[in-house]
Amino acid sequence: MQKVRNTRQRQVIMSILKEADRPLSINEIYNLIIDKLPRIAKSTIYRNIDLLLEQNLIEKYYFNDNEVFYRFKEDKNNHTHFLICDDCKEVYNLKHCPMREIEDSIKAEGFIVKDHQIQITGICKKCAGNHQDI
Ligand SMILES: [Zn+2]
Ligand SMILES: [Zn+2]
Repeated sequence: MQKVRNTRQRQVIMSILKEADRPLSINEIYNLIIDKLPRIAKSTIYRNIDLLLEQNLIEKYYFNDNEVFYRFKEDKNNHTHFLICDDCKEVYNLKHCPMREIEDSIKAEGFIVKDHQIQITGICKKCAGNHQDI
């Protein structure tokens, strides 16, 4: 029984992340999930998120002073970086990972790279335009 329930919880978390147009924090996931699974505990969400990360199905990001956000991974073999506008919260994808060359040179030194994060904060073109109008 336990196993079936866990699978269901994981599916709901996955569908929430898939439908979201931006990365979600644990609190946001929790607020969305309690409509569907009112009895779920936050610790259960954390456990499922960890499993999804292990299975490489979602990605983890740090924003706003290291608050953690999660996003559904479109392509298991690739990863994307993105910018979120401080004003409108719109998400912009970076076309390429700028870390590849750096990682290659680090690997050449014999260091095993497991993961990397890139955090860029700022304001999008649209909002920057708005600021100038004021
Ligand atoms: Zn904006
Ligand atoms: Zn990267």
